[in-house]
Amino acid sequence: MSNDEEILQSANILIADDDPAILRLFSHLLEQGGHKIRTAEDGNQALYMILQDCPDVLITDWMMPGFDGLELCRRVRQLHHRKVLPHYTYVLMLTAKAGKSYLIEGLEAGADDFVEKSAESITDLRVEIRARLKAALRTRKLEMDLEFAAKYDAMTKLLNRVTFYDYAQVIWDRSIKNKFPLSVIMFDCDFFKRVNDIHGHLAGDTVLREMASILRGFSRTSDVICRYGGEEFCVLLPGCNEKTAWNWAERIRKQFEKFPIKHEALEIGITVSFGIAERMDDTVFLDQLIERADQALLFAKESGRNRCICFSETVAEDSESAGELRTVHNLFDGVFASDIMMPVTLTVDSNETVANVADFFIKTQIESLPVVDQDGNLLGMVSEKNFITLLGNAARWGEQIGDLVTPNVISYPATTPLRVIFDFLCRVSLRQVVIVEGTKPVGFLGRGSLLRWMRSKWAALSENFEAIIPSGPGADRAISDIARSIQTLSDRLDGLQKKIATEDTNETWESCRFEIVSLVSQLQDMMDQVLQSCSLIRSDSNRGEHAGPLADKGNFQL
Ligand code: GH3
Ligand code: MG
Ligand code: MG
Repeated sequence: MSNDEEILQSANILIADDDPAILRLFSHLLEQGGHKIRTAEDGNQALYMILQDCPDVLITDWMMPGFDGLELCRRVRQLHHRKVLPHYTYVLMLTAKAGKSYLIEGLEAGADDFVEKSAESITDLRVEIRARLKAALRTRKLEMDLEFAAKYDAMTKLLNRVTFYDYAQVIWDRSIKNKFPLSVIMFDCDFFKRVNDIHGHLAGDTVLREMASILRGFSRTSDVICRYGGEEFCVLLPGCNEKTAWNWAERIRKQFEKFPIKHEALEIGITVSFGIAERMDDTVFLDQLIERADQALLFAKESGRNRCICFSETVAEDSESAGELRTVHNLFDGVFASDIMMPVTLTVDSNETVANVADFFIKTQIESLPVVDQDGNLLGMVSEKNFITLLGNAARWGEQIGDLVTPNVISYPATTPLRVIFDFLCRVSLRQVVIVEGTKPVGFLGRGSLLRWMRSKWAALSENFEAIIPSGPGADRAISDIARSIQTLSDRLDGLQKKIATEDTNETWESCRFEIVSLVSQLQDMMDQVLQSCSLIRSDSNRGEHAGPLADKGNFQL
């Protein structure tokens, strides 16, 4: 049987016509092809049925009561365009009308092909309609193939990563709304490179396909499985908590362990490692959940492979690495985002022009700014990066900055325990989060602030506090250098303060504000360098060397 005939057997066809005789005739002609045929008596009914179950092919009369075939065509195309319909519907228009202008009108409305009702004989009509239907189904098949290629991995026939994220996001949202548990499992074939090296890539491919097939065998229809990349797979298990997800993974792990995979005359034994994570109260994003599963997978690999590890174990009290993490977490006790965040000093009004904000970035060292509406509510962030996309499009420089903001800014309330934000920043590539009170931005908390805080905390806790203070002749000079720089900066700040105090006008503010921001960021950079140098000197002195030479070598310049 050819491909055309294969799909002809199973096509979903809707025929819309107000003439019952025509409906009967076409149903009869097409039923012989073995299709699923439905009929509608007017445009309204047809549209309703299309929304219920989208047909592969719509055969519609031109003239009908209510809205006609042309209007039906237009609406079907609109619905498809708005992604309300799951796939393209090929439209064949039945017409008693002839002439080029009618054909053009039909094509413009979205028809793909036409059949004249006024055929010489039923036999002629049957031959024609079946030939045109074949053409329609060829198009539909092509679309289905393209859709499959875009959504699935060709080798394993599992979802690809991009589509996985689309589906997973919908389930993620639903799991929060309907409060059902959700777990993710990441898994990866152990020493897969060796399979390729020893048995060749074709054998490796067979192993991947077999892994996918075993996975499918163990899954429910509600599970979302994808080939995450290479020999790594990811499964989303709606309704499963960490424990049930672990049980599921463990069954699959045993299956892999027990039954070697056959490739030609070979039997290839493999083992697989699994990382499992469940959505918890502090899992704010889908990415975060997947990162956690990935982290657990890494743990499984590092602790010997061929095992299933839950994320909670990797931070549990009694796990091997917990000691280290616990010390860190104790440090966070009683500390909240508001305690260490860098306060927001500047925000940008959403109606400020792109050109003005660009000036600001040029004159200061700030890389990103929160954009707020008229009431000060956070709309998003704008950063230098946004401007790069505008290079070469001068027209946009007059637009309002509001149009450029990145809306998916990650924000946490000021009362969030620092540990939550620390955990988040540890696992994502994001550099900072915005701290909010209600919907208003009040601060930033990024890697820099965390490092600064940790550094001072450590200094305070350290028994050898003196050791981090530079000593010796080189250090004395370094300290006096720092003092001089601080003095210079503070003199400039004083000058600005006086100027503002004496002439508190918009113009003065305008001319001073860039300098203030620049001074503050210079101060901050300087502090970074001081802290950095202190830790260098400390680690140097720990090795039993004199702390001074660092400064002497000129490593301590401001
Ligand atoms: P580990 O236990 O740490 O996961 O070791 P590994 O060797 O499995 O991991 P590594 O990531 O070093 O190697 C993965 C290998 O998978 C490297 C790459 O050549 C191979 N690979 C990725 N995609 C395919 C594929 O589609 N077919 C085949 N045959 N091999 C692939
Ligand atoms: Mg591997
Ligand atoms: Mg790998």
